[in-house]
Amino acid sequence: MSKAISLLGSTGSIGRQTLEVCEALGIPVLALTANQNVELLEAQCRKFRPSLAACMDPEAARTLKIKLADTGIKVFSGMEGLLEAAIVEGADTVLTAVMGMVGLRPTLAALERGKRVALANKETMVCAGELVTAAAEAYRGEVIPVDSEHSALFQCLQCNGARGEVKRLILTASGGPFWGKTRNELEGVTLADALKHPNWSMGAKITVDSATMMNKGLEVIEAMRLYQMPLEKISVVIHRESIIHSLVEYCDNAVLAQLGAPDMRLPIQYALTYPSREPGPASELDLLGCSSLTFAPPDEENFPCLALAKEAARVGGTATAILNGANEVAVADFLAGKIGFMDIPRRVEKAMSAVSVVQSPGLEDIFLADAAARQAAI
Ligand code: NDP
Ligand code: MG
Repeated sequence: MSKAISLLGSTGSIGRQTLEVCEALGIPVLALTANQNVELLEAQCRKFRPSLAACMDPEAARTLKIKLADTGIKVFSGMEGLLEAAIVEGADTVLTAVMGMVGLRPTLAALERGKRVALANKETMVCAGELVTAAAEAYRGEVIPVDSEHSALFQCLQCNGARGEVKRLILTASGGPFWGKTRNELEGVTLADALKHPNWSMGAKITVDSATMMNKGLEVIEAMRLYQMPLEKISVVIHRESIIHSLVEYCDNAVLAQLGAPDMRLPIQYALTYPSREPGPASELDLLGCSSLTFAPPDEENFPCLALAKEAARVGGTATAILNGANEVAVADFLAGKIGFMDIPRRVEKAMSAVSVVQSPGLEDIFLADAAARQAAI
């Protein structure tokens, strides 16, 4: 079990639930970070007494410093602040729950110090999964997934996963709020509709990603990188109820699944307690309350983001960073009311055809691809 953690993105949906888990399990929190939500970050600092706190936004960091002047908590700003938090002394685990590719450098910094990274921030794995796994191996750090599907796979792989006996990874997808709609109907959906996820309460960006099904596309790439599996050995199945969080099919056709109530506190906790399990705050699964569990094939025709993500995975190199960068700006524009819902896949596709791909990229190639994709997706 983690002795003490550093929490990046503490004011978000995953961040707040992580603090509930830490409080329930008595795990000390030594660093907290946010972008600009100073009010909540200050309250969290007063409650959890970390040794340092950081805001990405410099103005917010200045305000936080004044607010925490009586506490002795060191306050940092910008990427430097996130990096300080990632390597804070005494924390053996860094839970990265920031939104977007901004989580990449802190993840690498933590791994280079041999820490455990409990990874919610899937964009990092999508952009630079090979560099992340290489850093974990080189410095004896470890990456434990927090994303519910990948945590489910991780749990189902505990018995035989390392021995090459896995035939297929099966990721479940709720389908989001627009499942069953046609492309024409999707042209007219609103931001308010997109933010109504049927089963999960999450941050705005991932909620939109779930509605476009880009989230599942990102998760396919995340699974490839985490478990070193080729694209053709990863399937997606629509499972509206979000009770089965994912499945592993073995070579003898045994299929192991992990079930649970849709409650992120369980995968968050497992990433902190692994390899042991502890009683915790996650909700119990009421099996008798699940009248039926349903399965359907994904619809890549009406939800082109899933197909675009698979295409990026097939191309490899910086293609997945291009996909991700374009998607981040397109979703930000959709959230700002500047573009329509179906402009998201259109912009991602535009960036994917405009930006050239570099194979076997280093960190700089990935940042350049990300920047070019953000430009091309405007
Ligand atoms: P939220 O938007 O709720 O929270 C994001 C957190 O990151 C906040 O603390 C925010 O600070 C901070 N942040 C945002 N932008 C920046 C930035 N540029 N630099 C530094 N910090 C930043 O997101 P979620 O908690 O929903 O998701 C976080 C990550 O976890 C995402 O990668 C998501 O895909 C993944 N994930 C989330 C799940 C969920 O259930 N929510 C499930 C599986 C994965 P501030 O509050 O100040 O803006
Ligand atoms: Mg998920």
